[in-house]
Amino acid sequence: MDMPVISECRVEACAYNTEHTCHARAITVGDTHHAECETFFQIEAKGGDLAATGRVGACKMADCHHNVRFECQAPGIVVGYAREDIDCLTYDPA
Ligand code: SF4
Ligand code: SF4
Repeated sequence: MDMPVISECRVEACAYNTEHTCHARAITVGDTHHAECETFFQIEAKGGDLAATGRVGACKMADCHHNVRFECQAPGIVVGYAREDIDCLTYDPA
C-alpha cells in the first residue's frame, strides 16, 4: 500500500515546505499523545525532494480512526497550525 500523501501543509516556516507543499519523502506524526508533525524543523535553507510530494511514513496516534497498527491509512492528510502546535489536521480520534 502506498503511503498517504500530504495533500497540503500550511506551515511555510518548515524547511521542507514550499508553497504549502511538503517535500519530505516521509514524515512521522505523533508523540503518542498529540498528532504533531515530528518532522517539522526550521532552518535558513529549504530542503526535501522538490520533485516529490511528502507522504506519511509512520504515525503513533493509535486512537485515530485512520490508524492501523501505527500506520496511517487515510487517502491523504492536511498538516497545519492548531493553536501553537503543528498538527495533522486530519486526526480523527475514536
Ligand atoms: S508536513 Fe511536517 S515536515 Fe512536511 S512541510 Fe509540513 S511541517 Fe514540514
Ligand atoms: S490521519 Fe490519523 S493516522 Fe493519519 S497521520 Fe493523521 S493522526 Fe496519524
